[in-house]
Amino acid sequence: MKKILLVTLVLLAGLSIRVAAQNTPIFPKGEIATINNHTGTVWLTELNKPDSIIDIAVANATFAPGAKLDWHIHPAGQILMITDGTGYYQEKGKAIQVVHKGDIVKCAPGIAHWHGASPKSSFTYVAVSTNSAKNKTVWLQRVTDAEYNTVK
Ligand code: MN
Repeated sequence: MKKILLVTLVLLAGLSIRVAAQNTPIFPKGEIATINNHTGTVWLTELNKPDSIIDIAVANATFAPGAKLDWHIHPAGQILMITDGTGYYQEKGKAIQVVHKGDIVKCAPGIAHWHGASPKSSFTYVAVSTNSAKNKTVWLQRVTDAEYNTVK
């Protein structure tokens, strides 16, 4: 009887460790972003600072539910690798795409777009961009409620 209890406790301990691991972010959430280019709460961590040897910027971004970046352009493009939650991605003139953990989004060079969390889920991605000198983000207008609320 004691043996069964012990085995059960060991199995439960293993299960709770697994559940805890699933809720732990892959990369640190970082600091709350204070730059005026978004609405809602966004956390940012710089994972790789581009330099003359490897000119690739890598950052982790986490959005609270409903938080989103303003419309913007990456002159040399950007890749988003979604690691958690459900979010929105929209290019100018196109419908919002609902994107999930495991999706890869390519933001083509020069295309106005925005990305952020869906209303009821947080959203986390790793953003990768090259050519730092020629790839400074151009910030445009806020995403309006009418634009954000087009997903049924
Ligand atoms: Mn972007």
